[in-house]
Amino acid sequence: MSNSGHPKDTGHRRGLMLVLSSPSGAGKTTLTKMLLEEFADAKLSVSATTRPPRPNEVDGKDYHFKSVDEFRRMIEAREFLEWAHVFDKYYGTPKADTVARLEAGEDVLFDVDWQGADALHDQMPNDVVSVFVLPPSISALEQRLSARPGSTPEMVARRMEDAKREIMHWRRYDYVIVNDQLDVAYQRLRRILLVERLKRLRQLDLEDHVRCLLGEA
Ligand code: ADP
Ligand code: 5GP
Repeated sequence: MSNSGHPKDTGHRRGLMLVLSSPSGAGKTTLTKMLLEEFADAKLSVSATTRPPRPNEVDGKDYHFKSVDEFRRMIEAREFLEWAHVFDKYYGTPKADTVARLEAGEDVLFDVDWQGADALHDQMPNDVVSVFVLPPSISALEQRLSARPGSTPEMVARRMEDAKREIMHWRRYDYVIVNDQLDVAYQRLRRILLVERLKRLRQLDLEDHVRCLLGEA
């Protein structure tokens, strides 16, 4: 498929923050991977954490691995767009990486829960485009969770409970996609990305272009 969202189509642009949330199992990881494969100028946000790397994880790619002291210093210095204490470890989204990418005309993708999505929106209201992914039915969600490698009935039951709590927040999002047929859901997601790239505030050449049109340049 052609990459019809290349920056050349829209001139010099500011990237956007595409924030995806869903109950676990609804398909946001699958949809995010598809976007990353199609759009070379979209990148996944890399979080910082104080948990140790797992065997196959690479510093700077999967996470920025930090000491507790360094992470706390970054909190004090307000270097995070949002952060949380999860399972006794710190996790957070460094602000500088995201801002540099937006200014370079790249989109940054986030796979976060509704609280993370809210926090990102509070910090960067003009940059965030939020999308909530819903399953077509509760039974489909259960089947997808059960089919995931390594899942146990207990894990599925707990995630189904969590799913209902996450779904309740669907109204906070700019867009909602029901992920029934994967290819249909993906087409909707990529259309959202392409049209959001055309927002006036993201087309950085327009001021000059219009000044030129008006003979003011
Ligand atoms: P999430 O990241 O929201 O937890 P995943 O992307 O890991 O969800 O998807 C959960 C499972 O459902 C995976 O095995 C994935 O291949 C499958 N899946 C995703 N979308 C669909 C779909 N539209 N139809 C059928 N299976 C799907
Ligand atoms: P893991 O240690 O398995 O990679 O992630 C554990 C949990 O931390 C997951 O629920 C994940 O969503 C969450 N997490 C990862 N990065 C961030 C982040 O930048 N901010 C917040 N708030 N949570 C994160």
